[in-house]
Amino acid sequence: QGFKSFAQPVEFIFNRELTTIVGPNGSGKSNIADAIRWVLGEQSNKTLRGKKSEDVIFSGSDKKGKLGFAQVNLYLNNKDHLVNIDYEQIIITRKINRQGESEYLINNNKVRLLDVQMLLAQANFGQKTYSVIGQGMITTILTSSAAERKEFFDEATGVKQFQIKKQQAENKLRHSKENIEQTINILKELAPHLRSLTRQVNKLEK
Ligand code: ATP
Repeated sequence: QGFKSFAQPVEFIFNRELTTIVGPNGSGKSNIADAIRWVLGEQSNKTLRGKKSEDVIFSGSDKKGKLGFAQVNLYLNNKDHLVNIDYEQIIITRKINRQGESEYLINNNKVRLLDVQMLLAQANFGQKTYSVIGQGMITTILTSSAAERKEFFDEATGVKQFQIKKQQAENKLRHSKENIEQTINILKELAPHLRSLTRQVNKLEK
């Protein structure tokens, strides 16, 4: 609801192997793909064909005024437990309002974007690469640099979740190193003071 050209709540059911969306030019076919990309956590406004993050909110038509928010719920079948959680159905929700405040939910519980990314990575499914292939993307994949192509295969082979964890661990490690450096500096500052205090204690004891 409220996403791009969809002012009213609209429900799409993709329960067959192949679904075709047919409509005149500019009727909103690509907006459906954009909605799926968006709810999967897409952060690039360019990929979503907008300039600001609020551009995904319905901006009004001749029949209806603009809306204050956009919301997409993606219902995923998890009966095979490809994502290792107890739920047989996963509902990923993303909301945004005109103040730019956004929210992610998994089965109606508030979560961070990272949680959505981790959940999708577990199922080798993500917003970035081949899960949603838009117009022109095949050309992009074929002409992309080796590094960009590697990203594509990383997601396909399922190492993405470990890469996210690795990056988190590296960040933590960097923080810890900074803390250690700070502590060493403090120790260096305190050492002369400690020496003089030790001397004083020795004197007093004598
Ligand atoms: P084509 O066949 O030309 O690729 P399409 O059917 O894929 O077109 P989309 O690109 O999905 O169409 O939809 C474009 C329409 O969506 C335009 O009419 C545009 O005005 C409308 N639209 C995009 N963003 C918003 C928004 N935030 N609010 C209202 N309408 C929007």
